[in-house]
Amino acid sequence: MNCNEFVELVTAYLEGALDAETERRFVGHIAECDGCDRYLDQIRTTVSALGDLPAERLGPDVRDELLSAFRNWKAKRPV
Ligand SMILES: [Zn+2]
Repeated sequence: MNCNEFVELVTAYLEGALDAETERRFVGHIAECDGCDRYLDQIRTTVSALGDLPAERLGPDVRDELLSAFRNWKAKRPV
């Protein structure tokens, strides 16, 4: 799994909507990628700050904002 795939799957993961195989790959990516590990923490924090809503109830605006913030942040990182 790469970082883009990870970002696409974050909300599905938080919703518990991934199949077992995809979830295994998702969790594997967290273990090997600090950026995505931190990103997941950030999403979780945001979700709980919003009142513990399931990720699926995040407005599309909030979700897009988080995703673009993350992409910008990734872009600034040295590879
Ligand atoms: Zn990653």
